[in-house]
Amino acid sequence: MVQENLGRIRGRISLACKKIDCDPESITIVCVTKGRGVEQIREALAAGITDIGENRVQEALIKYNELYAKPALPAGRRYPLSAIKWHMVGHLQTNKVKEAVGMFDLIQSVDSARLAVEIDKQAERLNKSQDILLEIKTSAEETKSGVKPDEAIEVIKEISRLKNINIKGLMTIAPIVDNPEKARPYFRTLRELKDKINSLNAPCLVGRQALSALSMGMSDDFEIAIEEGATMVRLGRAIFE
Ligand SMILES: *Cc1c(COP(=O)(O)O)cnc(C)c1O
Repeated sequence: MVQENLGRIRGRISLACKKIDCDPESITIVCVTKGRGVEQIREALAAGITDIGENRVQEALIKYNELYAKPALPAGRRYPLSAIKWHMVGHLQTNKVKEAVGMFDLIQSVDSARLAVEIDKQAERLNKSQDILLEIKTSAEETKSGVKPDEAIEVIKEISRLKNINIKGLMTIAPIVDNPEKARPYFRTLRELKDKINSLNAPCLVGRQALSALSMGMSDDFEIAIEEGATMVRLGRAIFE
């Protein structure tokens, strides 16, 4: 089922890319496996997934350890375990940062300078340069975490002083809506914010690199997100259900 679902998803990504003339290969599918078992992760990897997203550190660690302890797949089906990229997509508590920095390649859910300072500290201990995205609250919902768009530049300025962190781009979680079209304005807000930050072109602001990644779009609205410039879509249900 995962294989078939992914085939359909890739087709839909290609169509969305055609509309805006982007290369489908430039879109990263982050397979979100929260609440799913290691067998399902293996299935996704066997179907060509390379990026795995989790939203809780504890749950992620258990699966990570199990997966690497028993990497075997049925004969003839292989996937490159060492090439898997792990993404933290859920709210990260300060007391979990140490473990998160130990296992995640990209922490997508950095929602304050304070959290970034802790990540920097732990990354330094591990001699690691930690890639992150800044999570932006593009909607007014009180329940969502993330930095408000009009505070993003200040927060990025603070984070870019930290030596062991690379800000690769921005992430947002759009509100749940009945029609994916209604999510478009939130995606557009994120893309416009990225363009604005990059146009400031201040080396002190984003290090030597422009922000490139835009993580936005989930199972119900990923095509709209791609039309608005997503480079990473985070999919759970579309892959597994
Ligand atoms: C669960 C989750 C997803 C995937 O959601 P689906 O609707 O299953 O595609 C994406 N992003 C985050 C932050 C999530 O927690």
